[in-house]
Amino acid sequence: MQCDKCGAEAVMHAAYSGLHLCSEHFRRSVESRVRRRIRDDALLSEAATADDPETWLVGLSGGKDSVVLTHLLEGTFASDPRVELVALTVHEGIDGYRDASLEACLELTDDLDIEHEVVSYADEYGVEMDAVAEDDPEGMAPCAYCGVFRRDALSRYADEYGADKLLTGHNLDDEAQTAMMNLLSGDIAQVAKHFDASLGSFEEREVDDSPFVPRAKPLRDIPEKEVALYAHLADLPVHMAECPHASEAYRGEIQELLYGLEDDHPGTRHSIMSGYEELARLAAEAHRGGEGPRGECDRCGAPTNNEVCRKCDLVDAVGGELP
Ligand code: SF4
Ligand code: ZN
Repeated sequence: MQCDKCGAEAVMHAAYSGLHLCSEHFRRSVESRVRRRIRDDALLSEAATADDPETWLVGLSGGKDSVVLTHLLEGTFASDPRVELVALTVHEGIDGYRDASLEACLELTDDLDIEHEVVSYADEYGVEMDAVAEDDPEGMAPCAYCGVFRRDALSRYADEYGADKLLTGHNLDDEAQTAMMNLLSGDIAQVAKHFDASLGSFEEREVDDSPFVPRAKPLRDIPEKEVALYAHLADLPVHMAECPHASEAYRGEIQELLYGLEDDHPGTRHSIMSGYEELARLAAEAHRGGEGPRGECDRCGAPTNNEVCRKCDLVDAVGGELP
């Protein structure tokens, strides 16, 4: 097969667009889609200058998604003094896994000359994921605890650091799976949260009132396989091992379902996401006039609709401690 742009040998075929692309044109296509998302979603303030830049905190796990994101952000902003990039790695306390991926993070941030910070569950919550997975007081998949802790660690750190934006490497498959899981569970409050977390929604209701550091996911248009191919072609230092606690069985089922649908009906993931975004906006408006969570957690001050937030409940359940 030949590249539709230049006739060189194609390295990929995207059924949803019909395009065959060579290595060079594939890389350019990923870069231009990600840059467009950065422009649309991350909305660099007009007030940002070389003397008073915006700080963008990038969640960097060492896996392909966050490594590609960090690499592309650096490529985009290396010569733009209005944005200062800082990478943040969350250390969950998973023996033999996180220490190795931390190496990949250090190698990348060293190469790119980006400041790198680490925050650990041990310091933040007084627990490590290995112990949580073993005790499992709530009878849930380890990832259910870990996801809550990671989101909290990233947003709290972003807030404390005074970051203007928080960027994460979620790709199109991650986003479509999460959307389907929330829809199939009938949890409309969770659907509405997708709207709370997106930056567009802050534009509509005054950023200053928001309890969150605005978030953006610049890879959200790029399928997982394309992110992996990009990382390979660009020869990026990616940590490949899988977490020993990876156990989200339900997500795996949804992933299989979406692979099948995408094979038979190319473009399904993109259309799920455009419908989901609109639905999330409507759900957020219907639920509470477009407002975010109504209150703050009594213990940690995080935005929540309950007296105590989910993270504080879980820290309690696993016998941890907030600093
Ligand atoms: Fe945490 Fe699950 Fe990811 Fe492992 S796979 S790091 S337990 S969310
Ligand atoms: Zn709390």
